[in-house]
Amino acid sequence: MKLADQPKKGRQGTAADRKAPAATVFRASGSSTSIPHGVRREIIKKFPVKANLEDYDATYATFTWEEAQKEISYFAGGKMNAAYNAIDRQMHAGRRNKVALYCVDAENRLELFTFQDIYYLSNRLGNALKSLGVQKGDRVFVFMPRIPELYVSTVAIAKIGAVVGPLFSAFGPDALRDRLQDSEAKIIITTPELKPKLDEIRDQLPDLEYVIVARNEGKLKRGELSYEELMVGASEQLTPAHMDPEDPLYLLYTSGTTGKPKGVVHVHNDIIGHHMTSKWVLDLREDDVYWCTADPGWVTGTVYGIFGPWSNGASIVTYEGRFDARSWYQLIDRLHVTVWYTAPTALRMLMKAGDELVYEHSLDSLRHVLSVGEPLNPEVVRWGMKVYGLPIHDNWWQTETGMMLVANLPGLPIKPGSMGKSLPGVYATVVDDDGNELGPGQLGRLVVRPGWPAQLRQVWRNEEKFKEYFRIPGWYFSGDNAWRDEEGYLWFVGRADDVINTAGHRVGPFEVESALVEHPAVAEAGVIGKPDEERGEIIKAFIVLANGVESSDDLLDEIREFTKRQLAAHAYPREIEVRDALPKTRSGKIMRRLLKAWELGLPAGDTSSLDDD
Ligand code: ATP
Ligand code: MG
Repeated sequence: MKLADQPKKGRQGTAADRKAPAATVFRASGSSTSIPHGVRREIIKKFPVKANLEDYDATYATFTWEEAQKEISYFAGGKMNAAYNAIDRQMHAGRRNKVALYCVDAENRLELFTFQDIYYLSNRLGNALKSLGVQKGDRVFVFMPRIPELYVSTVAIAKIGAVVGPLFSAFGPDALRDRLQDSEAKIIITTPELKPKLDEIRDQLPDLEYVIVARNEGKLKRGELSYEELMVGASEQLTPAHMDPEDPLYLLYTSGTTGKPKGVVHVHNDIIGHHMTSKWVLDLREDDVYWCTADPGWVTGTVYGIFGPWSNGASIVTYEGRFDARSWYQLIDRLHVTVWYTAPTALRMLMKAGDELVYEHSLDSLRHVLSVGEPLNPEVVRWGMKVYGLPIHDNWWQTETGMMLVANLPGLPIKPGSMGKSLPGVYATVVDDDGNELGPGQLGRLVVRPGWPAQLRQVWRNEEKFKEYFRIPGWYFSGDNAWRDEEGYLWFVGRADDVINTAGHRVGPFEVESALVEHPAVAEAGVIGKPDEERGEIIKAFIVLANGVESSDDLLDEIREFTKRQLAAHAYPREIEVRDALPKTRSGKIMRRLLKAWELGLPAGDTSSLDDD
């Protein structure tokens, strides 16, 4: 099957320019995909799986969230517990001895845990936490590498009704202090390797009562407790806390891409959204071996790395090691991963690692690949189709939305470069600054009709910020800009703050970045608006060159000419600068605000999320 040509002009210029490719592109379950050399042989024939959500239009027309409640277990009086739904429910559904967790450590050692294992282990830890005085609503943070204890802890905390605070293991002391102080955390669960970072700031955390240390071998100080000793002393029988659906489940900090991370409060009711979107978009069923590459320190790793897949009875894979293309492919082959959820930055790195490396592996188990977190360049989608023989399904959501809202569903055709369509039960669209809905092709604010189950309930201690999202009644303002096409597909343009105004035209960085990475010499690109007397702003691009490519004036001219041919005349980058790397958050997002601050010599602002390893 052939991919549709991308429009030659940039889509930011005029409404007329902003047309989606007419032809749709490929279907996950189509039969006419041409199989690239040596890979993905007859994959589609081999896995003629029907998508969980087969008929999008019919489901969209009739679905209500009340209906989805039937898939979730409730206690008497309408009470519920998200962790009960993720783990305990599987015990009663005949999955007791099924693998819940394939945990691969940094040395590639594999440990398996069944649902029953996670059930008993989390019961023990839940009891231990209760014995320390943890009560409903208390914040308990998890600061661990991707080891089994991280998953057990997350479930245990939620089971007893305390609020889970996930923390990414690569956070430094400042990032830790900000989050632990802000949330008034009572307990933190960590490991000996990570504890020194906490020790540095311990005296600045008056609310922190205990530090629980897993796998400790040395001496513990006052206020520190051994995870294993607590577990040994605790009962493995626990009645999960019966929570009101509106009681808090976790406090998640945003990625800090655009500023200081915000603490977003989500509730147990979110599990309805986790469950349905994992079923529809991840297309999970109980025989899937599913790998979400995001760390549970971020929303994706918590929602779609733990709660959503377990609620659907799928086995999850976790890998403690850092990114390495060969190790990733080996892991897919070794565990026969069927569904793989990753991010554009990882996919771009895999692309950089080359096609040959892909062909050295089978990857035959894969049936569904997804991406989130940043715009997914069409070039990457086409590359995925070529080397994996599978389309990469982009989807859009935020820490605040708590679940996917817009997605390329497995049962729908994909248009590379589009985030997909509103999910059933969700209405996402594009409006002007006053909340008036815009027609197809018009660039505006990406908004959503409030009322989806995992909608943020609070911004922790920041009512002002919370209200900003709902500043016009009837809409949730995402802070992103987008446009919608005739068929209801949504196309990401950029963060509202990142949109560039050049000679009266609004240009989103994503379009320009995508045009740049189409050039074989460009591995990555970050684009900003640079103030200019004549044009208001000019477009400046920072690029990272592909492996082995040397920078030269001729090359930069060629890249400029190349992008000029693809974009509207005003949208090509007048300045291009080569860098060894782009500043990114620890979750892998390009921090354009830092590129801008550096370019203009302005203060960098909050850099607690910056990956500066
Ligand atoms: P902060 O809010 O602290 O600045 P952040 O917005 O990066 O950080 P997240 O909640 O992790 O924090 O990310 C959500 C944002 O990521 C979205 O608002 C959007 O800008 C971007 N994003 C997520 N998925 C996609 C996607 N599929 N395409 C384009 N952008 C996406
Ligand atoms: Mg955000």
